[in-house]
Amino acid sequence: MNQKYLQKFESEIFKSIDGFEVCTDSKFYQSLQTHFPGTLTMQDYMKKIYNSLRCYGFEDENTMGMAAFCRDEITDPLLDEVIKYWGKTFNCCSLAGFVMMGKTGLAAATDHVPIFDGVRRFTFFAMPHIAISKEGEMGKVYREGIQKPSHACGSLEAIVRELECGRLNLKTDMEDIEQSIIRQKIISTLRYGEKPNLIEITKLACQIISDDVKKLLSPLDSSVFNYAVMTGIQIHGPMDTNWIYPQDFYVVGANLAEVDTLNT
Ligand SMILES: [Zn+2]
Repeated sequence: MNQKYLQKFESEIFKSIDGFEVCTDSKFYQSLQTHFPGTLTMQDYMKKIYNSLRCYGFEDENTMGMAAFCRDEITDPLLDEVIKYWGKTFNCCSLAGFVMMGKTGLAAATDHVPIFDGVRRFTFFAMPHIAISKEGEMGKVYREGIQKPSHACGSLEAIVRELECGRLNLKTDMEDIEQSIIRQKIISTLRYGEKPNLIEITKLACQIISDDVKKLLSPLDSSVFNYAVMTGIQIHGPMDTNWIYPQDFYVVGANLAEVDTLNT
């Protein structure tokens, strides 16, 4: 890819976001490209997903949304997009976007999925998140009404700090149950002595969440349920921009529409 093409591509992406000047925010963009290559604007990602899923028979009218994002209110724009495209959406959110709804939560969610021509369709979005500041600093975000930078994701950053200082409490704390589970799940995937930074732990969380969603949904009867799974990382950029670094995207269903992939 030559430099001119890259610059053109870069300005095209930024032109699609109102008021965003690439020249003043290039440190953010460099960080984004270095650590999360292939990232799309949240709007482009959601549009592409919607257009792809229509080919498999998923439409706003016949499909319900499910969303597992972090409880942090800065993830709201992504939840709003899920609702915009998929209508009524079951909230599966927990700290860091981990999927903690369990069999009982899933039973409730799937019970609400509409039935059209004997098929129940839903889309399941599950993602951890990370902020990147205008200066390209990982984890830093400036929130309205707060002068100093705050952090995202705070839950994952707490575990990075605990690993750095070598003090980990692995007990299940019933007064802090979500963070206990996240800590246990992350530590279970690390080798002794490993100390991932915030980028690495966010990618690790994304992998754990993707695996957990697959496991959670696998018992569903695919002759009744058609569903699509979308995982990745939600990235908060400067000026309230949101980006998606995609991971999994697949559809499951015994009687899915034949799709001509050349035309999708
Ligand atoms: Zn968070």
